[in-house]
Amino acid sequence: MSQETALTSEQLWNAALPILAQRINEATYDAFVAGAVAIEYTGDRLRLGVANDFALDWLQRHHAQVIGDCIAEVAQQPVQLQMETLAADAAPPAPPAPVTLPPPETSVARAQPPSDIQAAPLNPKYTFENFVVADCNRFAHAASLQVAKNPGNAYNPLFIHSASGLGKTHLIQAIGHVIANDPALSHYRVVYISAEAFVNHMISCMRDNTIDRFRRSYRSVDCWLVDDIQFIAEIEGPASEEEFFHTFSALYETNRQVVIASDCPPRHLQLMNERLRSRLEMGIVADLRTPDIETRVAILEKKALNEGVHLSRDVLDYVAGKIESNIRVLEGALLKLCAYASLNEVEVSRELAEEIIGDYSTSHTDRRVALQDILDYVASELNCPTEDMVSKKRTQNIAWARQVAIYLARELTDNSLARIGQFFGDRDHSTILHSYNKVQDAIEQDEQILWLINDLRATFE
Ligand code: ADP
Ligand code: MG
Repeated sequence: MSQETALTSEQLWNAALPILAQRINEATYDAFVAGAVAIEYTGDRLRLGVANDFALDWLQRHHAQVIGDCIAEVAQQPVQLQMETLAADAAPPAPPAPVTLPPPETSVARAQPPSDIQAAPLNPKYTFENFVVADCNRFAHAASLQVAKNPGNAYNPLFIHSASGLGKTHLIQAIGHVIANDPALSHYRVVYISAEAFVNHMISCMRDNTIDRFRRSYRSVDCWLVDDIQFIAEIEGPASEEEFFHTFSALYETNRQVVIASDCPPRHLQLMNERLRSRLEMGIVADLRTPDIETRVAILEKKALNEGVHLSRDVLDYVAGKIESNIRVLEGALLKLCAYASLNEVEVSRELAEEIIGDYSTSHTDRRVALQDILDYVASELNCPTEDMVSKKRTQNIAWARQVAIYLARELTDNSLARIGQFFGDRDHSTILHSYNKVQDAIEQDEQILWLINDLRATFE
């Protein structure tokens, strides 16, 4: 954009905001970015006012690069970003300050735990009774049962990982139910929370200056069930990892039970803190695999029974055969059948099942392109050995092939930038974003590249 048609600071910032909303994690965006105010734009420098010192520090340390890049992108020229704290009267309305003072140190007795943790309630259906045990989950189930019977003393931490929809949340909540209902453990404080909620809570406590209280609360937990820990690894900035690590260590060192669910094993988590990774591996690491057809039938039978619906063996076989790799999807198909059966007061026949869930298929997961397929295909199409694509080599051909593959990976899969980066030779998420933008620009400028990408995409669609 030339100087004559220069944007105002407000226009520039307003145009950058939706892009930033995509690139910065939601919690940070809401807490610090959305409320920032563009003060002045001189054509090569933008002064950005943020709510307070904490926001300033946080943004400067973790997000200055991405904000700067984004502004330059919108302005279409280099722009220097200068962040500062807004004068109190110019600041947008601050969130209400907490009225309660943090409790004095002495009141943090375990009998009177502070109660401001935003724990999620346990799903009453996620019990051991409702969990079908089979080869695909036998070890994880046994370990969970031990932990539930003997929290803090059996396996600590217990780390359960699997692909989506295979029972992680079910199992870790089953542990929570047993402990919460054990009369001998009535003083026990069980907290189930997703890693994302933990991080959001942490950020808001930092913003409100109640981080000490936050720490005390989490450190008074007796059994900590943390779901979807991969979130901690995926967001930018080491602060949440640090905080998680300290909470984890405080609990672990005082023999409190920690159970963690993750979509990948500890060694594949994109963690910056190596000590955290090794601690996560210190206890039992158990995985859940896809159930075989008999197990899927057994799971369906159990769910149908719980729903009070009778389904013939033929129908169960059909449904279990159709949906292979995700129990959540399997269950969804069953519920659809049950709803139809009860609404129409009919028995579900095989034909009816085919009609109702004929369009369901494993293809829901099948259709998701694997990173490996993209890598292999681009490697062969662009004549670049796969080893080179995931190496540190940066010769032009190799770098280009790699960028193309990264572009497709971002376009065609649900993987996070961090995951894509890890796959393509342990690169960080900003490198991945850079590669993506490079290809995007090339597509816009060069018709040949547009067609190349178009052909490559078509192969996977
Ligand atoms: P994840 O957390 O791994 O994505 P969930 O724990 O949410 O998966 O499980 C998805 C659904 O599948 C839930 O409704 C859960 O009850 C069910 N499920 C998973 N494994 C089993 C099992 N072994 N027996 C019965 N139901 C199961
Ligand atoms: Mg889950």
